[in-house]
Amino acid sequence: MAQTEEQPRRLNRAQVPCPACGLPQDRVLTLDQDWVLLEPDMTPPAHVVPADHRWIELSDGRATVYGVCPPDPSQRCRIPHHLACSARPLPDLWPWLTTLRAENARRTERQPTTQPPEPPGEWPTTG
Ligand SMILES: [Zn+2]
Repeated sequence: MAQTEEQPRRLNRAQVPCPACGLPQDRVLTLDQDWVLLEPDMTPPAHVVPADHRWIELSDGRATVYGVCPPDPSQRCRIPHHLACSARPLPDLWPWLTTLRAENARRTERQPTTQPPEPPGEWPTTG
């Protein structure tokens, strides 16, 4: 019985090298009959991973995005290898924060240049 349960799991996954960095990544079948390349041996808490990048494995070995929001604090997940790949740029994980930073950059440019305050002409005497 255990062998028949294990067979689909093996068919739904393989380990392949990343073409960018050469490290192994787990190629796992998704519910959409597509493949996702996951970081091996890494299951961070789901709440510390951006929502679109939280993957969980089902009992048949296939993977799906963990869509529970807010995530269960005890839920672990897997992450795509491209987030951890040292040979690729990190994607924009927090678009709202990137937008805020860009807006703050524009606000900074619009601000009049301010001079640092002038030091007093004569320092007060102390003690
Ligand atoms: Zn890589």
